[in-house]
Formats: sequence, structure tokens, C-alpha cells
Amino acid sequence: MPSGRASILMYHNVGIPPQGAKLRSLYVTPRMFRFQMWYLKKAGFQVVSLNEILGFTREDKNASGGKQKQKNKRLISLTFDDGFLDFFENAFPVLKKYGYPATVFVVSGLAGRENLWDAGALGVRKKLMDWEKIRYLKENGITIGAHTQTHPKLSSLSPDDIKKEVHGSRAGIKERLGVEAEFFCYPYGDFNDAAVREVKKAGFLGAVSVGRGFVCRGDDPFALKRIPVRLNTWPLSFIYKLHSDYEIKKGGF
Ligand SMILES: [Zn+2]
Repeated sequence: MPSGRASILMYHNVGIPPQGAKLRSLYVTPRMFRFQMWYLKKAGFQVVSLNEILGFTREDKNASGGKQKQKNKRLISLTFDDGFLDFFENAFPVLKKYGYPATVFVVSGLAGRENLWDAGALGVRKKLMDWEKIRYLKENGITIGAHTQTHPKLSSLSPDDIKKEVHGSRAGIKERLGVEAEFFCYPYGDFNDAAVREVKKAGFLGAVSVGRGFVCRGDDPFALKRIPVRLNTWPLSFIYKLHSDYEIKKGGF
């Protein structure tokens, strides 16, 4: 694997896709998830927080000793969009076993409810964690990030509504958990200049997109690329994604 790049994995559901569910690719089975977490350890990846990935983007590659240091580093961060209950049930116990940090992006206005934004389109209602569970995670090594209040497509909103969704989600997390969320996740990976502006103004340190690829030094912290992990990400594809340039070729948004 080329040195000088870090990875952020993107997960949605960790569970068995229910009968009739559309977009089954959003699921990763618990068995595959266990394999993936095992592999990261086996292959010597350092599973780190998004904050450390941010630090990596700012590192000076010419600093003395930096090159050698980087060579031995395989930084990877784990992100889970939407805050589904299956994270609590199926993913968290595995992360805990390995002592891996992770970030869960919650939809602040819908905690304890369901995926109202796409339940109709997907033909499946998925439970979202309530604040009690989110708080428990926060107290047990999981970082809570913001994913708006209601999961809209930000670029389709008026400037006022963008502001409300972005600032409101951060305020909601602060109110419920007493912490300032540091990272933001654009719903559907959709954003425009106004959205980025509000994310910065709200005080976030960075934001993740659905643009595919690795994180490199000097990357824009408000459009961090990720690697999607899906239902059909079999063990060999998982390994290939991490070690080859496949994701860079897929690229784009
Ligand atoms: Zn989402």
C-alpha cells in the first residue's frame, strides 16, 4: 500500500437486510463486519478517530523523520451514518472487543424514531438509536457526529433552512449529550458552497462526503473522502479496496 494516505470507511447498517428491502448494499452482515474488523488488526492498521485523520491531513510530509514514520502508519477511521439501532446491537460489541474508536453520525431530530427520509423509497423502516443509547456510546469511546436534523438534501434547501439543519444538529447534540460535535456528515453526500460555509460557521472541524478515495495530506477537511463498505464487499474486495488504487479510480461524488 502506498504510504502517505489514510482511509475512512463508510458504513450504514450492520445487520441482515430484511426481505423486500431496496438498496441492500447499505447493509453489511454482522459476520462480514466481524471479518473486516479482524482483518484491520491482522493487517496492522491503526484504527483512529477522525480527529487523528484530520491531524494527518495537516502533517508536513517534509518534516524530518516524517517519511519513515508515515511508512509504518496505516491509519484508518470507521464511520457509521444515520445512527441505526443495529450499530448498537451488531457493530459496537465488535468495536469494543478490539478497542476501536469510531464515529456515528446521528440525525438529531429523529433519534429514537425511524429513517423517515427514505423509508418509503427503500420499503423498509429502520430503527434509529435513542438519546440514551447514543449517550451510552459517547461515554464508551464512540464519537458522535452530526448528520443534520432531518436528513434533507442540503443543496435543495434555502440558505435559511441549510443554516437550521446544520447549526440545529450541532445544538441538538450539545443539548442532549453536553458535547460539541466536531464532525459533520452531509446527507446523501450532497453539499454546495452554502452548506460548507454553514458547517464551518457552526464550528465543526471537518466533514465527510461520499466522494470515494483515500485521505491525503493537504486534503480539504470539509470534503473528506471515504471508502464505502457494502453488502457485496466480500473479504477479497475489502482487502482490495484498502490496498489497491481501486477506490481512487472509482473516485468522484
Ligand atoms: Zn445518511
